[in-house]
Amino acid sequence: MANSYELELNEIIKLSPTARALRYNTKDLINFKPGQFFMVEFFLKKENGFDIKENKSEKQRRAFSISSSPNSQYIELTVKKTPNPFVSDYLISYTKKGERAIFTGPYGHFIFDSQLTKKNLIFLAAGSGIAPLMSILRYIDETKPQVNIHLIYSNKTENEILWKEEIENISKRNKNILFTFTLTQNEENTLWTGKRGRINKNMISEIISNWKQDEIDCYICGPLEFTREMEEILKMEGIPNSNIKYEIYE
Ligand SMILES: Cc1cc2nc3c(=O)[nH]c(=O)nc-3n(C[C@H](O)[C@H](O)[C@H](O)COP(=O)(O)OP(=O)(O)OC[C@H]3O[C@@H](n4cnc5c(N)ncnc54)[C@H](O)[C@@H]3O)c2cc1C
Repeated sequence: MANSYELELNEIIKLSPTARALRYNTKDLINFKPGQFFMVEFFLKKENGFDIKENKSEKQRRAFSISSSPNSQYIELTVKKTPNPFVSDYLISYTKKGERAIFTGPYGHFIFDSQLTKKNLIFLAAGSGIAPLMSILRYIDETKPQVNIHLIYSNKTENEILWKEEIENISKRNKNILFTFTLTQNEENTLWTGKRGRINKNMISEIISNWKQDEIDCYICGPLEFTREMEEILKMEGIPNSNIKYEIYE
């Protein structure tokens, strides 16, 4: 049975113009596996210009992946404002330290388990889809299981790459953790020299061609269209269904 925890928002970190990390204090460690999510009930306040329309309730429940490691003294959410936002607008622009939310869970099978994992892992993420993968990366950084990881992370622009510096630092500390950032929107006056364009078959096969097909686990997280596209590519590359895990943010 799922547990419920009432937690207080203790820290808000700006990750990009449209994304924040929200850290909620926990007295004791809350049990979850890296990659899981909670259903979170927020109590939205009509203040400072935030209005609740269409007679909707101030209580709103949404699913959020946990981006912190299970060993952290807080539960962290990585929230990105959606194109047509409601709760995500509140969480980015109006929520304040001290506000409480009720977390029910944990839920989900999009998990890393050091006993069951394959030797090689490919992580494919778009936008806020990095959230559960941050939990997994942080956990792997702490516990050092014998796995090779390559993360391919797609965003529109460079300033929307969430946790960029931390991903770079984790990779510096762990020679077995590599990453590729790719940008889908052309910006003027940019010094970006990395990859451009959506994650495609070539980017993926370059990485997995060095690995035996039955020794690869694939983790995909992002919007529905993205997860479907990535799944198709992985199948074309001969990865069996049972080795593909995905979390869809709809
Ligand atoms: C398993 C899972 C894990 C997830 N993890 C994450 C995560 O880690 N990070 C993340 O960013 N997202 C995550 N999501 C997505 C998240 O749960 C929400 O769906 C997302 O934040 C969008 O919620 P929203 O309320 O902003 O938008 P919606 O639920 O789409 O609501 C928008 C609609 O609300 C109405 N509306 C707009 N403003 C108002 C208003 N002021 N008053 C009343 N109605 C209004 C409009 O009609 C608009 O169309 C996850 C989803 C799933 C399923």
